[in-house]
Amino acid sequence: MTANLSLRLTEIFHSLQGEARSVGRPTVFIRLTGCPLRCTYCDTAYAFEVCQQFTLDSILEQVADYGAQYVCVTGGEPLAQGNVRELMRRLCDAGYQVSLETSGAMDIDDIDPRVSVVLDLKTPASGECDRNRLANLPLLKPLDQVKFVICDRGDYEWSRSIVETQDLASKVDDILFSPSYEQLAPSQLAQWVLDDRLKVRMQLQLHKQIWGEETGR
Ligand code: SF4
Repeated sequence: MTANLSLRLTEIFHSLQGEARSVGRPTVFIRLTGCPLRCTYCDTAYAFEVCQQFTLDSILEQVADYGAQYVCVTGGEPLAQGNVRELMRRLCDAGYQVSLETSGAMDIDDIDPRVSVVLDLKTPASGECDRNRLANLPLLKPLDQVKFVICDRGDYEWSRSIVETQDLASKVDDILFSPSYEQLAPSQLAQWVLDDRLKVRMQLQLHKQIWGEETGR
């Protein structure tokens, strides 16, 4: 019986996807409350506590109101709340293209295979590198994406090493390298990627190009 399952949410909003494979697509974002990590560059600390409890039925109704095809489940850390797996299953059943943004610290087992997991492996400068759960890597499927937020040269070299030693290109179609916002010049990261002939996709956060650090975007 799943009728009364609920989740703590910080916000539901409609915007353009700012990152990853569906960048630029109108998307409904479901931001879950809470995160066990404290990354140095976190831009969603307001999601640690600000929350309201919603049933899954209510969340699905709110999502439907926007008429979008894409839904992104994000946080905070969505997988910190167990009922999120059922929410994602129901979103997929309803016909949405669903992505999940999760840190590398949580177990990604038992997620509906229709969901594209965007796994954010934490680099050394995040301060949370030791939390990465490398046991997740064999669970990745081609539909998934692995993301690295890169703050400096040390982060870049660490990320390059993980890509190579874990053979990530054989596991997922998209490996994403993002310069940490206002910490690393995009042109610098671009040059490193080109110099090393890395088979990764560099990305900038589209929503920050358009709206800066405004929340709910
Ligand atoms: S995992 Fe995400 S939400 Fe949690 S502290 Fe790090 S950047 Fe912030």
